[in-house]
Amino acid sequence: AARQRKVLMAGNWKMNPASIKEAREMAALLASSLRTIAQDKPGFDVEVVVIPPSPFLHIVADVLSGTVAKIGAQDVHPESKGAFTGEVSTGMLMSMGVSYVLAGHSERRNLFNESDAVVNKKVKAVLASGLSPILCIGESKEEYESGLVKDVCSKQLREGLVGVSAEDLQEKLVIAYEPVWAIGTGLTATPAIAQSVHSYIRSVIKEMYSPEVANAVRIQYGGSVTPESVDELMTCPDIDGCLVGGASLVAEKFSRIFSYQ
Ligand code: PGA
Repeated sequence: AARQRKVLMAGNWKMNPASIKEAREMAALLASSLRTIAQDKPGFDVEVVVIPPSPFLHIVADVLSGTVAKIGAQDVHPESKGAFTGEVSTGMLMSMGVSYVLAGHSERRNLFNESDAVVNKKVKAVLASGLSPILCIGESKEEYESGLVKDVCSKQLREGLVGVSAEDLQEKLVIAYEPVWAIGTGLTATPAIAQSVHSYIRSVIKEMYSPEVANAVRIQYGGSVTPESVDELMTCPDIDGCLVGGASLVAEKFSRIFSYQ
């Protein structure tokens, strides 16, 4: 059966590139590739999101305006303003044209000690502002090897979604399954592994909410997605797009990914 959910391909630039000049150049290459696709493939119906570091949000949004690409932010602070040195609010992101915000990326969880409770606060703040969170979950290598994939994903989901309404899950929130052992390692999960975890995630959502919500929520796969691996991953019925790191830094590769076959 054809996938009912709109495919979402997002490129997380992480702490790259090194300068605003390079960011502008990367965005310009993507913009030209998106314009070509719009001309050559009138039926192109993939949601494309570019997620640059916060100092480059404005310029990247500017360069990509007029294309179908939307802008995402890598992180946010849950409070709306005040004495939080170094932090960025949802309102600031909105004013720069941001539509999506990552919450709970494994690098935030592991390198910056973000707990599920903090991730949940961010998810709720993003939703309250009207933006769409991409809630990232996924197990570490040790957890994978100990057979804890379901336990970890279920815990991160349940704790990340505390207080989130069915409507927000159906219409706004996106889940990204990113096995930590696959991130930046070149070890993409096989389509069979990814599909089985995605289907499990949908079953948890079904239990927490309803079959309708489970059927509507979009679940991205992330972890070493490349032009070589994307086509097969996208044949999996429960994979609704990809969250791409390394390969999203090369416009040609990211373009090939979002125009997967
Ligand atoms: P990667 O990163 O594609 O470089 O593995 C994915 C991610 O962290 O979102």
